[in-house]
Amino acid sequence: MSEEHGNNVSGEVDVLLIGAGIMSATLSAMLRELEPDWSQTIFERLDGPAQESSFPLNNAGTGHSALCELNYTPEKNGRIDVSKAMTINEKFQLSRQFWSHQTEKGSLPDPSAFINPVPHVSFAQGEDQIDYLRRRYENLSANHMFPEMKFTQDQAEFSEKLPLMAQGRDFGKEPVAISWIDEGTDIDYGALTRQFLDSSVAEGTQVRYGHEVVGLKRDGALWKVTVRNVHTGDKQVVRARFVFVGAGGYALDILRMAGVPEVRGYAGFPISGMWLRTTNQELVAQHKAKVYGKAKVGAPPMSVPHLDLRVIDGEESLLFGPYGGWSPKFLKKGSYLDLFKSIRPDNIPSYLGVAATNFGLVKYLVSEVFKDFDGRLEALREYFPAAEGKDWDTVVAGQRVQVIKPAPAPSFGSLEFGTALVNDQAGTIAGILGASPGASITPSAMLELLERCFGERMIEWGDKLHEMFPTYGVSLKHDAAAFQKQWEWTQKVLKLDA
Ligand SMILES: Cc1cc2nc3c(=O)[nH]c(=O)nc-3n(C[C@H](O)[C@H](O)[C@H](O)COP(=O)(O)OP(=O)(O)OC[C@H]3O[C@@H](n4cnc5c(N)ncnc54)[C@H](O)[C@@H]3O)c2cc1C
Repeated sequence: MSEEHGNNVSGEVDVLLIGAGIMSATLSAMLRELEPDWSQTIFERLDGPAQESSFPLNNAGTGHSALCELNYTPEKNGRIDVSKAMTINEKFQLSRQFWSHQTEKGSLPDPSAFINPVPHVSFAQGEDQIDYLRRRYENLSANHMFPEMKFTQDQAEFSEKLPLMAQGRDFGKEPVAISWIDEGTDIDYGALTRQFLDSSVAEGTQVRYGHEVVGLKRDGALWKVTVRNVHTGDKQVVRARFVFVGAGGYALDILRMAGVPEVRGYAGFPISGMWLRTTNQELVAQHKAKVYGKAKVGAPPMSVPHLDLRVIDGEESLLFGPYGGWSPKFLKKGSYLDLFKSIRPDNIPSYLGVAATNFGLVKYLVSEVFKDFDGRLEALREYFPAAEGKDWDTVVAGQRVQVIKPAPAPSFGSLEFGTALVNDQAGTIAGILGASPGASITPSAMLELLERCFGERMIEWGDKLHEMFPTYGVSLKHDAAAFQKQWEWTQKVLKLDA
């Protein structure tokens, strides 16, 4: 054993993954299948898997495929732009395919423990929103990727579909409309992470909980990674050929620590959230849907309110929110110094730019932070007018770190709300930043990582990749037959057609 600055040098691995959330778990599963002989180690600072954003109550559990989320179909110059909705839907089909393939091969032994069918509904209030929703429906329902989408303004039909939301509603006061697709999903990304990791460990991956990566720098052709045992304080050094930074809210700072030039000038803007939750089964029985509405003016797109049926550990509950909030932490179990420590000379202009150009967002966050329980209940009553405080508890959601990308002078920086993959030019390190649509599209994000970082192996891996993703390279929005075939297969294997 060699010593280096008092650290125990504990060897070399082919692939080192930082964080045990859904992103690392998915990449681990893919690489196990593509290269079973590569050694893999995962370091996680907490004492178990999926304890941050991938924990089921830290996120909304929506299988984002643009069936109901109105922020994926913005109105531009009087026209509904459906391009983002199409792209997200196609990416989600790749998720369904990868999970089905893993289920058939026995690596995800129990699909119902992580994915369940829940209708996805969009909700419009007032004439303007109804007009928008109708045009959105006309646009999307024309494409086969939005099968049997329906729209109604009829009070009786609304009440039949959403009995809870009809209770106490004065339909004469404000007109409402909904569009929906019955084949939406609710996903427990924590359960999915655990099933992936259990299989990876059975196939040889080492997972070290309670171990935080505290140093990362280049060492010739390898990465030198310093890891601290959070319980004993002991440090060790591991060298890795490839590093994946699946560290959620800490990913940006770790990529900056590694000196990855591709994130120079980037900054992180933390946004926290809260839910109202009920486990009252009388209420739950009357709401079998995920219902998404329109964002308030200034609200970040991922803070669009929604009233969701959740299925976690076989138990059903309702979740409403998220209410936006603010905390300087980059992870829920992070430090109040996270934001402060992340400020560097190169990203100060990015922060200043966002502060100067996002007045609406700042105003929205301030109003949300000062919302008390009654204020939150008031917002819930727009969806469920008869809601009573006694049935609902407040739950703190996960922390999101929105990426602020630098822009060339004289501009400052811009706030990005999507999910972004970052890698160095040589393809030896990659990380994932941002949130929405986040966990839902992990398989396609990791597929993109493979293309970018292991491009020279893609031909060799071709057959296996087509087993994992039968429609890899096919444009599903243009190929109705291919869409239908994979849809029927994934519905059956994931037990969504019951
Ligand atoms: C309020 C909210 C609602 C959301 N709703 C949805 C939704 O409905 N659908 C959807 O698809 N997505 C949703 N998302 C996004 C989704 O939760 C995330 O995209 C996804 O969970 C991110 O997974 P991850 O593995 O990158 O990060 P995480 O699950 O956060 O895992 C990162 C892990 O890295 C560990 N870590 C960090 N630093 C270190 C270090 N230095 N050393 C070792 N370990 C480290 C952390 O402890 C953590 O366990 C939502 C997110 C939030 C916050």
